[in-house]
Formats: sequence, C-alpha cells, structure tokens
Amino acid sequence: MSDRHKPVVILGAGLQGCCVALELAQRGVRVVLLDRDEIPMNRASLRNEGKIHLGLVYANDRTLATANLVLQGSLHFYNLLAKWLGLAIDRLSCSTPFNYLVANDSLLTADELAKHYRAIELEYHQYLKRYPQLNYLGQRPEQLYRYLTSEELAIYFQSSYFRTGFQTAELAVDTEQLAILIRQAMERSSSIQFLPSKLVKSVERFNGLFRIEGIDPEGTWLLEGQQVINATWENRLAIDRSIGIECIDGWLHRLKYRVIARLPESLRDAPSVTMVIGRYGDVVIRPNGTVYLSWYPLALQGWSHELQPPASWDDPCRGRVPQKQARDLAAGVLEAIDSWFPGIGKSEPFLVDAGAIFAYGRTDVDKTTSGLHDRTKIGVTSVDGYHTVDTGKLTTAPLFAMTVADRVMDWML
Ligand SMILES: Cc1cc2nc3c(=O)[nH]c(=O)nc-3n(C[C@H](O)[C@H](O)[C@H](O)COP(=O)(O)OP(=O)(O)OC[C@H]3O[C@@H](n4cnc5c(N)ncnc54)[C@H](O)[C@@H]3O)c2cc1C
Repeated sequence: MSDRHKPVVILGAGLQGCCVALELAQRGVRVVLLDRDEIPMNRASLRNEGKIHLGLVYANDRTLATANLVLQGSLHFYNLLAKWLGLAIDRLSCSTPFNYLVANDSLLTADELAKHYRAIELEYHQYLKRYPQLNYLGQRPEQLYRYLTSEELAIYFQSSYFRTGFQTAELAVDTEQLAILIRQAMERSSSIQFLPSKLVKSVERFNGLFRIEGIDPEGTWLLEGQQVINATWENRLAIDRSIGIECIDGWLHRLKYRVIARLPESLRDAPSVTMVIGRYGDVVIRPNGTVYLSWYPLALQGWSHELQPPASWDDPCRGRVPQKQARDLAAGVLEAIDSWFPGIGKSEPFLVDAGAIFAYGRTDVDKTTSGLHDRTKIGVTSVDGYHTVDTGKLTTAPLFAMTVADRVMDWML
C-alpha cells in the first residue's frame, strides 16, 4: 500500500527509467524522474552499439537461458516503443543486418554456433506462433541465419581471419535517434516531471514513504515518494545498499569505448559485423552513412569490482574524452578493424566516447567459464514499494519497464 498523494519517483533517466516513466504515465500515474545529468538518455543508453539482440552472441550459455531472455526482450522491443512513441517510431532507423564472423581462435566452433542459432530460430518461431502480435523491429523474418558462402565472405572481409561466417537477421537501432525520440515523448507527457542535475546519494524508508536524498548545483536536497524505482545502472548497487538491499555477489563494471565515424561511400551498404566468440569487435553500418566501431582489446579500458565504478569513468561516459586520447583510440580501432574489414580504415572518426557495462563475472569473455556469457541475473527486484532494475541490455529495457509498471500498480492497491 502507498500514499497516493506523493509521486512515484524514478531514479535514472536512461532507456530503463524513461520507459518506466512513459508506461506509468500512460497508466495515469504521476511520476518524477531524476537524473544527475542535464538531459535524459545521456549515458549507456546513448553511448552503446544499439544491437537488438536475438541471443546469437550468447552461444556460450549452453542452457539457452540468456538467449531466450534477450530474444523475448527483442520481440517486445518495437511494439512497446511504438506504444510510447506513437507514429514517431517510424523515424527510428536500423543498421544493415549483421554478419557473424567466426574468428580462427573463436571459443566455439562454427558447428557449435550453428547449433545455437538453430535453437534460437526454433524458439523464435514458437514465440511468433504463440503471440501473433510479436515482431523483431517491425518485421517477422522467416530465417534468422544462414552460412555465408566463401565467395560471399570474401566480398567484404579478409577471409583468412575467419573459419566461416553467417548472415543473420539481427539489426541495431540508431541510439542517437532513439534518445531524441524518447526525450520528445517525455516532453509531450504532462504526467512526467523531469528533474535534471540531481545526483541521488541515498534512499530510506520513513513513515510509510521513501525519502530520497542527494545533491545538485545548489546543495543538498530531499524528496519524498510513495514508491521508488532505481534505474541508475552502474550506481544502482550503492543506492540499493543505502536502503538495505544487498546485491548478488560477483558483479563487474567494465568501461568500454566506441568510435563513430563517417563511412567511405563504397561501404555504405556493407553488412554490419560481430566477430565471435572472444575479445573481438563490432561494426555497425547505419543508413545515414555513419558507422559504430568497437575493437574490444582497445575499447575496454576499465574493469572494476567496486560497488560503484571509479569517478574517473564519469567524463568519458558523458562524452568528454581528451582530444589526443580520442584521436589515438580512433586510429587504433580503425587500423585493427581494417586488417580484416578492408576499407574501414578510410572512415573519418568524429566521435569517441564510452559507456559503463554492468554484469556478473570475474574473467573476460575469451574464457569459456566467464560469467559474462550468462546474462540471466537481470530484471526487476521489488521490496515493499522499492523496485530496483538491472536492465541487462538495451534490448530488454522496454520489457522490464512493463514488469516494473505492473509491480508499481500492484503496490498501489
Ligand atoms: C559500449 C556499450 C555497448 C553496448 N551495446 C549494447 C547493444 O548492442 N545492445 C544492447 O542491448 N545493449 C548494449 N549495451 C548495454 C546497454 O547500453 C545498457 O544495458 C542499457 O543502456 C542500460 O540502460 P539504463 O537505463 O539502465 O542505464 P543508463 O542509460 O546508463 O541510464 C542510467 C541513468 O541513471 C543516471 N544515474 C546514475 N547514477 C545516478 C545517481 N546517483 N543519481 C541520479 N542519476 C543517476 C545516469 O546519469 C543515467 O542517465 C551496451 C553498453 C555499452 C556501454
């Protein structure tokens, strides 16, 4: 039960917090959405790759549980965004489809990968049959993957680097566009009050309510709410702990950089790529002639098992990267990718920034036993009106927003 005169307070205006706000607003709930930044959608939900995962990349979780979870997220992603964005959803553009290229020293063989992809495709068809309204980014492709022929592989790639490749139906959304559309939808809603520049320090229970404390440019502030949703991603554990919720052991924060560049004309229709499975990289080719580039050995620049990542991560996660560092990183990433994707090196980088990734694991993705292959410990935990969300992936944020909204409504009864 809760005091209906106070607002529901959402901490963190990334995709997770914004989707919860939009859904609660549609259900007639007044919400206050706080963020330490001046605008919503300024952190990981903006500075990521934008892939809407079908689960293909999680082949080393042999239980299929991770793939299944992200697959569900991806099949709800478009409809839920359309519910909140309305017709503006048509302005959200997608990348070219991903090729999955199997590196010579991949953790899994091509046969093992094909087996995983086949299992996902089966699962996918079962979902589509059971729920005719579901779709993958507005489409219902018949086939999710097929082997590339060696001739096809050689069109764009240095074949000697790969055992084989797959063409897949997987796509990425343009995260800059997504951020703009989400911000606009929130501005249109009279039930959402966005409070910028509010850094949350703690939450406590008080007289059946929640007291949220923090700092802003004017000093300290205090806010009361009937329920609280913690969607602060890499700061979530610290805020949970302040209200007495302990986290599962074994968490990890990683700092990963990305490079955005203008593509040479000749590669504008090339496939997007994920190299599997190990410490490799991704290339996302967007319809506006830009490309997202990530090469894991260079892009991964922070690793922390502390409750909160180091303060030094804050600047790159807000897009502030010193010019020389940005130039050197971009040059290194372009050179590394150009060796197996010739021509990429001619791209012109214009943005380098980073995002924090929260997950569970002690060792890196090139180890078969790494916890990073399993992303099932994600989702919503609720304790008497306090809801904390481990978003897991951009892909799963809209689906988890529905779970949060259901729990908020239940607690109001
Ligand atoms: C480089 C990179 C690539 C990725 N690629 C993909 C991908 O291809 N596909 C995919 O599905 N996922 C991907 N992800 C993961 C995805 O970006 C995240 O899972 C998702 O964006 C998390 O959303 P969120 O809203 O929880 O976090 P965020 O978007 O980070 O939002 C959290 C918000 O909380 C605010 N906040 C934090 N602490 C406080 C505080 N104390 N007080 C007030 N406000 C606070 C922040 O300012 C921020 O606005 C990637 C992540 C990274 C970093």
